[in-house]
Amino acid sequence: MSSFSAPKGTYDLIPPDSAAFLAVREALSAPLRRAGYGYVETPGFEHVELFSRGVGESTDIVTKEMYTLTTKGGDRLALRPEGTASVLRAALQANLHRAGGLPVKLWYSGTYYRYERPQAGRYRHFSQVGAEAIGVEDPAVDAELIILAADAYRSLGLGGVRLLLNSLGDRACRPGYRAVLQDFLRGLDLDEETRARIEINPLRVLDDKRPEVQRQLAGAPMMRDHMCEACKEYHERVRELVDAAGVAFTDDPRLVRGLDYYTRTTFEFVHDGLGAQSAVGGGGRYDGLSEMIGGPPLPSVGWALGVDRTVLALRAEGVDLDLPAATDVFAVPLGEEAGRRVFALVTELRRAGVAADLAYGGRSVKAAMRLANRSGARYALVAGERDLAAGVAQLKDLESGEQEAVALDAVVTELTRRLG
Ligand code: ATP
Ligand code: MG
Repeated sequence: MSSFSAPKGTYDLIPPDSAAFLAVREALSAPLRRAGYGYVETPGFEHVELFSRGVGESTDIVTKEMYTLTTKGGDRLALRPEGTASVLRAALQANLHRAGGLPVKLWYSGTYYRYERPQAGRYRHFSQVGAEAIGVEDPAVDAELIILAADAYRSLGLGGVRLLLNSLGDRACRPGYRAVLQDFLRGLDLDEETRARIEINPLRVLDDKRPEVQRQLAGAPMMRDHMCEACKEYHERVRELVDAAGVAFTDDPRLVRGLDYYTRTTFEFVHDGLGAQSAVGGGGRYDGLSEMIGGPPLPSVGWALGVDRTVLALRAEGVDLDLPAATDVFAVPLGEEAGRRVFALVTELRRAGVAADLAYGGRSVKAAMRLANRSGARYALVAGERDLAAGVAQLKDLESGEQEAVALDAVVTELTRRLG
């Protein structure tokens, strides 16, 4: 026996579970499509510098998790570890920020690659649905995105998603806070790598998940005690708008995120049913990113929601998604002539919008009916030589077991009527 195995840290989406995955992607993006966000799709790989400049040289994503490669032509590329830098790059390249009104609102859905230590909810290849609103500094935009994400989770029937909210300050007040935080961190007992991080990106140290580090951070200075008036006011407006929309949140003054580019509004959606990998989505404002990658000043805000972890959260809560039936009608032809007629009927049904499938390979009635039952179809359409001679097919309701002969030329109308 040969053995097959996908690369470490990856998994395949296969039926029937893949249907839930698609439905989650759809549900996470539906609110965006109703809010003026246009679909954007960027390549699966980019020049390495886009991420090293955009995501940040001091982040785990860039230093440890990025898949990089050199092409035969000598280009240094990276498989995309996240979406924001690519989407902003694409918007700048297409001059979307000059084309019409700001913000440029974009949404995306795709797979991302990070060389991480695989565990439940943490993979090397995973899916996100994301959104970016580019070019406007207005608390209403931040609030809009937060509300749209909360609505997306709610539409899936998830009750256990919690929203954590914080502000990271801006160019005016963060440098002062950064210095105070560095002073505090330098006095702690930390390993060499973390000590190096204090000098490059001290806020990231607050995000350290290790208990021995968290314990020492108990008395750490908080951004909110060092925030300038403009940032305070901005944050208060975001909080008011989110609250007024009926979206509950917890202020989390220690919330920072793994990427360097965040300013002001920062948020994370967490779910308690996922063990250590509790973040189902996150995002925030990134006013400096455009300039970091060589563009004009474009204050922006965005988020990315993890599809894989959202599926796990649904499972943890025992939520069954209301998925449309894969097959409404399963046809069972008995004999060669019936095979031709039934095949034509199935084609007609599909063209009329009915999800229809049929038994192939000249199966016996018994074997074919077993397939019909397994397909989850509501109706079986059975036809043999004798039915055809009478100009009918047998329509069997697989729920009630009732069976009825229907004229061949009325099958499509009858089934579309019954299926509503
Ligand atoms: P974490 O703290 O769990 O590493 P992150 O801060 O790196 O998350 P983001 O870069 O903000 O995550 O990505 C947004 C979302 O994408 C996360 O909230 C999570 O749901 C999902 N995600 C991130 N990394 C992975 C991964 N390796 N496997 C599966 N999902 C992931
Ligand atoms: Mg991470």
